Amino acid sequence: MNSNLEGKVVLVTGASSGIGQATALALSEAGAKVVVGARRTDRLKLLAEDAPGDVLVLDLDVTDQQAVQDAVAATVQRFGRLDALVNNAGVMLNGPILGADTTEWTRMIETNLLGSMYAVHAALPHLLESKGSVVQVSSTSGRIASAAAAAYSASKFGITGFIESLRQEVTTQGVRVVVVEPGFVSTELITHGTDPALRAMAQQMADSMRTLQPEDIANAVVYALGQPDHVSVNQLLIRPTDQDR
Ligand code: NDP
Repeated sequence: MNSNLEGKVVLVTGASSGIGQATALALSEAGAKVVVGARRTDRLKLLAEDAPGDVLVLDLDVTDQQAVQDAVAATVQRFGRLDALVNNAGVMLNGPILGADTTEWTRMIETNLLGSMYAVHAALPHLLESKGSVVQVSSTSGRIASAAAAAYSASKFGITGFIESLRQEVTTQGVRVVVVEPGFVSTELITHGTDPALRAMAQQMADSMRTLQPEDIANAVVYALGQPDHVSVNQLLIRPTDQDR
């Protein structure tokens, strides 16, 4: 148990796999009441069975602004408050700019950037009331762009910028804002892409190093949210030791 998380109400987006799933479980183990949102609710229901604490399962597509507002409303209706939003839902559909399927760009911007922005917009009145926190899962790709990841990088640079503006707007009102920037984590993320060469390259990269596990990032989120109220952990950049850039 983490005394600063005991009884806190935390909404985690994209909790049906990978980092979001591990984070929701870790927060529940730390004593939080957790609300989990994603489109694959069958997976969320299994998570709720495994978690030791109270878990509310929500069918949530973060690209749908009304659904995001409804998710925040359902959280407050069930638990009476919202103490933290973990903006984690994301997709990575990499490929070169030349000849790109731009519907994949739209999907990444709508999910990784706008989806997170909608969630902040909906949650902020409640977070101001509770003097709560926002944890934004960005990426090393939000700091260092690379070839064949242009739109993904744009979405992550974008959300890191949005979140820094948010921090400046609300920190003196007691709302803490954390950006988490993971390097390579073993999850389903690399399986979403449609370019077979890039998927193979990502798999090769995964096989060539001791990658991070979702729990490594979950631990960092629990650390940041578990700090006393006067301590604001603003940025956590976490790479595998074996990853050089
Ligand atoms: P996963 O693919 O395992 O998880 C992605 C999660 O996002 C799933 O739960 C998925 O749920 C959810 N999601 C995707 N689209 C939507 C949507 N429209 N609405 C709601 N939920 C959605 O990958 P990761 O755990 O790796 O990714 C989590 C975050 O971490 C992402 O933001 C990613 O960019 C970031 N990240 C990952 C890194 C890595 O190496 N793995 C490195 C740096 C950052 P569902 O499909 O059920 O809706």
